[in-house]
Amino acid sequence: MKRILITGGAGFLGSHLCDRFIKEGYHVIAMDNLITGDIRNLEHLFPLSNFEFHHHDVSQFIHVAGELDYILHFASPASPIDYLKIPIQTLKVGSLGIHNCLGLARVKNARVLIASTSEVYGDPTVHPQPEEYWGNVNPVGPRGVYDEAKRFQEAMTMAYHTYHGLETRIVRIFNTYGPRMRLNDGRVLPAFIGQALRGEDLTIFGDGSQTRSFCYVDDLVEGIYRLLLSDYPSPVNIGNPVEITIKEFAEEIIKLTGTSQQVVYKPLPTDDPKQRQPNISKAKAILDWEPKVSRAEGLRITYDYFKNLPEEELYKAAY
Ligand code: UDP
Repeated sequence: MKRILITGGAGFLGSHLCDRFIKEGYHVIAMDNLITGDIRNLEHLFPLSNFEFHHHDVSQFIHVAGELDYILHFASPASPIDYLKIPIQTLKVGSLGIHNCLGLARVKNARVLIASTSEVYGDPTVHPQPEEYWGNVNPVGPRGVYDEAKRFQEAMTMAYHTYHGLETRIVRIFNTYGPRMRLNDGRVLPAFIGQALRGEDLTIFGDGSQTRSFCYVDDLVEGIYRLLLSDYPSPVNIGNPVEITIKEFAEEIIKLTGTSQQVVYKPLPTDDPKQRQPNISKAKAILDWEPKVSRAEGLRITYDYFKNLPEEELYKAAY
């Protein structure tokens, strides 16, 4: 049985990855300090003998007994309000955390895949963004703690690959959504659906002309699975290239939820990227991957999940 360590295993993406590797017959070790992750995302796996949960902060030395074939580094605050609130932890998990993972991988002779992000492109001046684009990031702006940690993480991972011959993979993840996102994490989809469910107006930041491209979580997980098993060490974008403005997105959510609320406009956060759309030519060519789930279908599934959460979840503050 192959053994895999998934850091950030109790988070939105981490928990879906745990499910996928359990389904593939792996022994899965999920590690999380539960700062932004939620243990309830993993409860259904606790009875399984091929699943372990380790409550641990990966910025501290990591000890795992036994062999490991793969390490997925997915631990990190990942929404703008999270990394504004806990900037130092965000920088530490992207730097000390990946250093610990890479060191562990050397000892175990394991392959490492890291969760990088479209944020490495910053507020892009090239559109759509191919992997060759170096980005336009403000290192000292409020988002810099996340963007630069992820850029450092890529550099560190590539250095271990080049200098130690470690097997490494880098996925650059674009906006992803689906069940188990935190309703209060501040990102646009849970924000809009939460507002609709509470009977509040939907808050558009700026004039709503900024764009994003939303990928359903199952599509992302399939891309990551293929990348891990590929032999390609350079970064690969995984995301859905169907682009939409935030204003149009708000209208879609209003229609989906049937809310009679309106949109209201709030100031645009500092350094909020104006446009974002992945160029996925590489994923298509190397992994034979492209997204399969339409936004209409993905949003329906995600809305059903949020609608069925206990009512008190709707009123929980972000922190
Ligand atoms: N946004 C918004 N209203 C909200 C939350 C977010 O208009 O209540 C905007 C945000 O300014 C950004 C886009 O939606 O332009 C996506 O934001 P999110 O935090 O989901 O992710 P990002 O891609 O910026 O990391």
